[in-house]
Formats: sequence, C-alpha cells, structure tokens
Amino acid sequence: MADTDKQQLSMAASAIAMRGVSLFLSAGRAAAERRVAATATAPRSKQPKPVVPGSRPAQKIFDILLKSTRFNKNELEALFTMYRKLVTAAQGITPNTAIGQPPAKVDGIDQSTFRDVMHNTFDLVTEEAILERMWVTWERGSGGGEGALKFEAWVKGLSRLLRGTDDERVAHCFAVYDLNNDGYISKDEMFLLLKNSLLKQPGDEDPDEGVRELVELVLKKLDVDKDGRVSVKDYRDAVDQEPLLLEAFGQCLPSRRQASAFLKTLNSKA
Ligand code: CA
Repeated sequence: MADTDKQQLSMAASAIAMRGVSLFLSAGRAAAERRVAATATAPRSKQPKPVVPGSRPAQKIFDILLKSTRFNKNELEALFTMYRKLVTAAQGITPNTAIGQPPAKVDGIDQSTFRDVMHNTFDLVTEEAILERMWVTWERGSGGGEGALKFEAWVKGLSRLLRGTDDERVAHCFAVYDLNNDGYISKDEMFLLLKNSLLKQPGDEDPDEGVRELVELVLKKLDVDKDGRVSVKDYRDAVDQEPLLLEAFGQCLPSRRQASAFLKTLNSKA
C-alpha cells in the first residue's frame, strides 16, 4: 500500500475514533436527559432497564473496579459507554484496514484505537515510540498478553493515568522508558529516547554527539545511587527533588488540566 493511502486510512481511522468520542459524549448527554425526563414524569410503572447493545461485563466487574480504581459509580458507567463506542467504532473500520483479509474481530481497545484516544481525547502529543511503549506496558491483568484491552484493564490503567498517586505516576513513566523491561533505564535507553524526542537541527555535524552529552547530563540528575543506570528508586528520589524530571524522556501522562477536563465530561453525564 502506498504511504499516502496508509496516511489516508489512518486519518480516516482517527476521524472515526473522534466520531466515536463525540458519539460517546452526545450519548451520555442524551442518557442524562432521558434520566432527568424519566424522573420528572415520575413513571407509574417500573422503569425499564436501559437497553445496552453489546456485552456488558458482569456487575461483579463493576464492583471490583469501584474498589480497585479511583472512579466512582457514575464515572465507571460513563467509561463503559465510551469503551463500548470505541470498540464498536473499531469493529466498523476493521474490514477497511485489512484489505484482502477476513476482518479480525476486535474485542476491546486495539492499538490503533488506543493511540487515537491518547492523541485526541487526552491530547498526548508524543512520539510514536512512547505511545507504543504505553501500549505494551499497559497492565492487562491475569489475561496478560499484548492484545486488545478489555474493559477492566482499560479502566484500571486509566485510573492510574488520570488519578494516579505520585508513586503510580513514577512507576508508569519508568515502565514506559525502561525499553527492555529489565528494571533499569540504561544509558543506551536514554540515548534512544532522547534521540527520538529531539528535533534534528539543520546543519548539526554530529547530532548524536549532542544527544550523548544530554544523556550524561540527565544521568547525573537521575542516577541518585551513582551506579551508572537508573533504577525505579533512583527515579522516584530524583522526581521527589525535581518534579519536572517525571517525564524526562517524553510525555506519557495527560496533563493535569487535560485529565481534569476529561473527568469533568464523565461527571457531566451523571
Ligand atoms: Ca532497561
């Protein structure tokens, strides 16, 4: 496929995901209005259960999430509505993205939907490599694997992303930056991350030289125990001293402002 075709496809996918999000927003509003209307007219008969197309996880899952995340009941309901829209939208575009192949059934948030939500909903303007790492390191629970995110794993991760404690935020960024998952951010990893995130200056004789210098500078700040690599403890200590170091190697958390704006939309539907 030509690059322009791919680009157009991915633009179409983004457009559809965007539509998914706006559908989600308007659906939530409509549901809220219906609830208000239902209350106002004080129905004599038993209120009918809302019709939920697609499979809804067992109530048990909601109860678990209520305890294990920092979302309240209304937020979880709104998140489920959003999840369902996103999955439905992804299923709708699958046949177009897999030309000549039988459409794979997407059951959950797939990687391209994930990327679109991070970009469009959380305004995460970051390198593809970081988004790839966020996808790979997103905890999938006992199911594990690298496949689509089911509702439970999706929501648990969102809780850390949007309402995480300082420790959880450090652990999240550290996991993203620890490219080979060995528990340390090495100089090589820093080099790759920084090289990725820096714009090439035209006329730079040896851009790598500048990156290597930067690695030494950042290492000096992060390697608190001076063993030449950065452990999660080093990282936590360094961020305690200098909070700006949290996302030293590329944005992998929504801004506080973006997070609270999103949480507000969840609650506006309650
Ligand atoms: Ca490592």
